[in-house]
Amino acid sequence: MVAQASRNKKGKGSRNFVLYTAIIVLIIVLLVVINQVQKKEEGQNDHFASAPSTESQPVLGDANAKVSIVEFGDYMCPTCMYWGETIWPQLQKEFVDTGKATFSYVNVDFHAQPSVTGALASESIFKSHPDKFWDFHKALFAAQPTAEHDNNWLTEDKAVEVAKSVIPDLDEAALRTSMNSDEMKEQFQLDKQLYQDFNVTLTPTIMINETKIADPLDYAAIKAAIEASLE
Ligand code: CA
Repeated sequence: MVAQASRNKKGKGSRNFVLYTAIIVLIIVLLVVINQVQKKEEGQNDHFASAPSTESQPVLGDANAKVSIVEFGDYMCPTCMYWGETIWPQLQKEFVDTGKATFSYVNVDFHAQPSVTGALASESIFKSHPDKFWDFHKALFAAQPTAEHDNNWLTEDKAVEVAKSVIPDLDEAALRTSMNSDEMKEQFQLDKQLYQDFNVTLTPTIMINETKIADPLDYAAIKAAIEASLE
């Protein structure tokens, strides 16, 4: 009797061991699967019902182009500067200069007041000197300090200085008045509404028509989305 009880106990114990092992293995498998699903979601482009409206925004390229490239950017953002120096020249050469795509820039203010100052300068120059807008845009990014770029470098004075370097006969007082006007604040408000509508949480965010690109620094992914839209 005693021996049998011991065997039963032993048998129950090994069944439990098998059960617990199976549960642990199942949990590990589930964790691996969940992790892979998350990774896949992080790397996937987002699709919206429509492309962001570029009405009231600076647009570069052939207005009849089939594809609209929109950058949601911030003059305070180092990755935006990097994007402008590395990804943008390839995009411009391959798709904008060839009439296949247009390019628009929408202001985002993820770095507090300096971002707003940059955005208001950008809106003002776009209104007063639309033909000089892209030169100013590039020059303002180029004015970003190489170190400690989170410092409040983008002041009204800095924006005026950069604008004067691009537009020598600039009316400085007029630019300052414009930057502080309700009209430009309203223009910037349109951009804010746009980036909220498209759930922009990082800069730069790149949209190809209605597709939001998962990794803005992945030129191949941007190119693939453009080519899909051109078909
Ligand atoms: Ca704008």
